[in-house]
Amino acid sequence: MDIALTQRLSFKQAGLTVLVAFILGTALSLIQVGIDYASEDASINREIRALMEISHNPAARIAYNIDAELAQELVLGLLRSPAVISAQIIDNNQLTLASVSRPAMQSRYRVLSDFIFGQRRHFETALFVSHSPNEALGLLSLEVDTFAFGSHFLRRSLLTLLTGFARSLLLSLILLVLFYFMLTKPLTGFIRALSERDLRSPSHAKLPYPPNHERDEIGVLVDVTNRQLASIASEIEQRQHAEDRLTRYLAELEDMVSARTEQLEAANSRLLDSNRELEQAKRTALDMAQARSAFLANMSHEIRTPLNGLLGMLSLSLDGPLNNEQRQQLSIAHDSGKVLVELLNDILDLSKFEAGQLELEKIPFDLASLVEDTASLLSQNAASDVELTCLIDPQLPHQLLGDPTRFRQIVSNLLANALKFTRVGRVDITVSAQHEGVKITVRDTGIGIAEDAQTRIFHPFAQAGIGITRQFGGTGLGLALTRRLCEAMHGQLSLETREGVGSTFCVELPLPSQTGTPLQPQLRGRIIGLSPADSGLSAQLANLLPRWGLSYHHLDADSPLSGIDADLLISDCPQRLHELRQLSNLPILLVSAYGDFLSSEQVDTLAPVEQLARPLSRQALLQALRRTLGQGEAHATEQPSEPARNRQARVLLVEDNPVNQLVAKGMLGKLGCEVLLANHGQEALTMLETQAVDLILMDCNMPVMDGYEATRRIRQRSELNELPIIALTANALSDERERCRAAGMDDYLAKPFRKDELAALLDQWLSAVN
Ligand code: ADP
Repeated sequence: MDIALTQRLSFKQAGLTVLVAFILGTALSLIQVGIDYASEDASINREIRALMEISHNPAARIAYNIDAELAQELVLGLLRSPAVISAQIIDNNQLTLASVSRPAMQSRYRVLSDFIFGQRRHFETALFVSHSPNEALGLLSLEVDTFAFGSHFLRRSLLTLLTGFARSLLLSLILLVLFYFMLTKPLTGFIRALSERDLRSPSHAKLPYPPNHERDEIGVLVDVTNRQLASIASEIEQRQHAEDRLTRYLAELEDMVSARTEQLEAANSRLLDSNRELEQAKRTALDMAQARSAFLANMSHEIRTPLNGLLGMLSLSLDGPLNNEQRQQLSIAHDSGKVLVELLNDILDLSKFEAGQLELEKIPFDLASLVEDTASLLSQNAASDVELTCLIDPQLPHQLLGDPTRFRQIVSNLLANALKFTRVGRVDITVSAQHEGVKITVRDTGIGIAEDAQTRIFHPFAQAGIGITRQFGGTGLGLALTRRLCEAMHGQLSLETREGVGSTFCVELPLPSQTGTPLQPQLRGRIIGLSPADSGLSAQLANLLPRWGLSYHHLDADSPLSGIDADLLISDCPQRLHELRQLSNLPILLVSAYGDFLSSEQVDTLAPVEQLARPLSRQALLQALRRTLGQGEAHATEQPSEPARNRQARVLLVEDNPVNQLVAKGMLGKLGCEVLLANHGQEALTMLETQAVDLILMDCNMPVMDGYEATRRIRQRSELNELPIIALTANALSDERERCRAAGMDDYLAKPFRKDELAALLDQWLSAVN
């Protein structure tokens, strides 16, 4: 334990004490010196006065006697006093009787003494004799050098101060020694003992008390330190125990981890094995799915080709001369064939979904017309007491981007169901524009669907109840397909229904629009609608006519008819029209259900200007209004719904199968086309060198040269670059369409096709060319 002397407690203590003692001692010594000065100063005057008093009488007598000799002796005697440096006796005539003086003492301390006491002092006293104190005899004057006193005083003061210092010094030495033994030594001993302790190896041995310090502050300090050391020692012991336990635990943990790692590695390798097996199983499943798809494609080819022939032949036979019974039998056979085709199509579509092969087109199409066409086609299935209405939002863009074929499928599935399950009431299909899409709602007043069946019916081959197939037929595939189609188009299909009240299926699809809102035609005239208030017709007329600039007024079916006046009356109540005819000859536009047109006698009596079939398409209504109101381009004799039927086109049919040739040729002929026939691709190429055609229907699989190769060669000829080529194929899988496009064909028609499908394609491609 090495502490510098000046840093030691005893030194600091002693130093402080000595400083205080020194200051106090110096102050006291200075006070003592001051007092001594005052008394010394007073004693100078006192002693000289005493000297003058002693000398007064002899000096007075000398002055009285004017004895110069004695006067000389007296002043010499006075000069013997060490302080007196000059003495003089002067008589009353101011005559100096005696005068002596000597030089002042010289010393280097004199300056100090002169500073304190002054250099010299002058004393004089008047001389008189005691019996005549009032008579002045002369003067005794003394000059005193203060140094005689000052030197004594300085010596004493010096001594006083020196002894003061010596006392302080001695005191400090004594204190230093005392403090050292009392404080520093026991403390340094204690500190040494403490610092020699190794806290890392705790011991419960106590630090010893310094001798004779058991009960004082140092003893208490030792006690407290011992207590702290004991608690530190026990804490360290506890910590060591805890660390020991922790180390043991870590070791156990390590063992557990390594055991677990081994287990995991084993599980991992098992998992890898099972992954490999799963991978293998997946590959097998995919292979099987592919095989199934291929099988389906082949099967569909195999089934479609004869079906195509069957349906085509039946349809041709139905157009020929037949008696009623034969016609009915053939119609049933034709209808059953159509059901078979639809079933086949549905199964094929489902399998495409499952194989992930369904591809959606994105082309511009007119959704409103598509809905109206589909509704018009399906209206033949509607019961006579069901009113089918298309309510098209006038804001709906003219052209939307999407897959028209799949859209038609959705609409016709929902609409066919609504018509199938509704015996009486209304079926409405509403199309409205939504933000970035469309909403199609099919609402019917049919049998509705029980709550427990509402989710089930969206699964393949599921129907609402067991009696459904027997009563209504069907396979249970339509809704499953529709839902998947909606999801594939990123839309959704929802259902609201109450058993016995009706159902509403709602499809919401994001369809980007290709064009803006269409311009509405503008007509002039006053129109009255006569129909039941809750009829689809009144809703449709109220929706359309005011937007076309017409003033429209609705009359309920049982309102009185007298006094009504308008440019045209539109009605679907022929029974009220007889009454009306008696009252006025207002032009009448009659709307009837499909196949429920007026007999010729009724036409004669009612004389309607127009008779239109339900569902009313916007185009048909507009044309009829233009004709009856005498506005716009249309002529009264025009058949608006059949504008394209008279197709005067030359079509080259390239097909090897004679049955298919016959079917396609028959349909084309009925559609007004002139047909050229080639049995394979090579023959078609030869014919095209000499003959000009407007369109080619090209089978894909043919002997000699197949349809793909033939198309490629046709496209190589620049003058035939624009010629529409439509593929005819029975292979319904998705890559087939791609193959056809890659070869240069424009469109695709799956066999067996219906006449209206062929007609739609002809209309599309022939109008595109013209
Ligand atoms: P399918 O009509 O061929 O039976 P769907 O998948 O189209 O097959 O329909 C499944 C079932 O859903 C139908 O069998 C019928 O029970 C019920 N369903 C569908 N649409 C309607 C509807 N508009 N009204 C009442 N029931 C319906």
